[in-house]
Amino acid sequence: MQHLERARASIGGGVTSGLRSVLQPQPLSFTSGRGSRLFDVDGNEYVDYVLGWGPVILGHAHPAVTDAVTAQVPRGQLFGGIHPGERIAAEKLLSAVPAFERVLWSNTGTEAIQVAIRLARAATGRNLIVKTSGAYHGWHDSVLLSYRGHRGGHEPVLATRGQNPRSVDDVRVVEFNDREDLAEFFGAHGQEVAAVLLDPVLSNTGVIAPDPDYLRDLRSTCDAHGALLVFDEVITGFRVALGGAVELYGTIPDLAVYAKALGNGFSVAAVAGRADVVDLVEQGCAHSGTYNGNALAMAAVSATLTELSRPGVHEQLWQTAGTLAEGLRRTFRDRRVRAHVHHLGPIVQVLPGVTDAVSPREFEGLDWSVWDRWSRRLSQAGLFLLPNGRMFLSTAHSSADIDVTLNAFGALDPDLLR
Ligand code: PLP
Repeated sequence: MQHLERARASIGGGVTSGLRSVLQPQPLSFTSGRGSRLFDVDGNEYVDYVLGWGPVILGHAHPAVTDAVTAQVPRGQLFGGIHPGERIAAEKLLSAVPAFERVLWSNTGTEAIQVAIRLARAATGRNLIVKTSGAYHGWHDSVLLSYRGHRGGHEPVLATRGQNPRSVDDVRVVEFNDREDLAEFFGAHGQEVAAVLLDPVLSNTGVIAPDPDYLRDLRSTCDAHGALLVFDEVITGFRVALGGAVELYGTIPDLAVYAKALGNGFSVAAVAGRADVVDLVEQGCAHSGTYNGNALAMAAVSATLTELSRPGVHEQLWQTAGTLAEGLRRTFRDRRVRAHVHHLGPIVQVLPGVTDAVSPREFEGLDWSVWDRWSRRLSQAGLFLLPNGRMFLSTAHSSADIDVTLNAFGALDPDLLR
């Protein structure tokens, strides 16, 4: 705690991304990470299930990524023209997701989402963006809507002080996995829609998988109304499969946005998609950014995608997560704790107090103070956990890490568990 107090004296709020303030216990102060482990300023070691909120899919300081970036450092970082690293990384991305033809580089998921929205508006000449309630697409005014606290209906709700109240004018909300709601909305307003922006797995609200019929419906609905389909694969990309949700579910959007796992922790994001849409950047649709395609990020992307393309990597990620999920189920069953556990690829979701999967609305209504209490205690046992029951796994998580984790959950005070 004293580290956070000291940070507050020079850094607004003490944390450099607002969401970090909700970690339990109060944000720990880390000095280094190696593989699946993190080390704090007080010399404690943790099995890391946060992974920098998702990006560090190969584990911390992965040798191949570290070597690639280190080799680039003495050669310079930012050239202001073009350099081969941008093309090499783009070719690697396109071979991971062969459905796409072009890439644009950006720095964060939030930025890349704005690029995708602009391309969709330019391509269609329309303004309206449709998103699902419970989906987070970054912190920008135009998409930080109805992530939490949606009251039903198609009107979005604002999320933060200082947000442009007119942001709600350009966005409409539909319910995730609800084909009737989609049909109803498009029946009335389909001709106004520039794009549907969809996190194909509701990654930040219960890790809820899409119904394959829903994705197919979305694709044909967008086609029928001349709207684009944009996947936000910031979390799913390169994680649930090398080709992300596009590969896993077989529905091909017009554009997809990638970040997080793309650079194993280096700041990088991308928009990928149809050539005729992405090439609008040559026809008056602005895309810019001083740091776009910087040489260190590109080195990190190429090394990360090379590692993630090795045979068996995603099978191993699914298997490790499956072992953890099954072990947690067993632990909760043996201790008579009501909790539902599922996983989608290397993302495990624990839902305290229920015995089955939940809808996005029900997810919001769960008593998350239970998980917060577990997290505080489990951090003392050497686990670093995200809020809201989600656990990210990397290729560096070993069976020994899973054993440590299950023992820590198993040793929780029974009173704390109920
Ligand atoms: N989209 C999704 C699904 C995310 O989870 C996030 C961040 O957590 C973003 C977009 C925004 O990405 P960034 O934090 O890199 O701006």
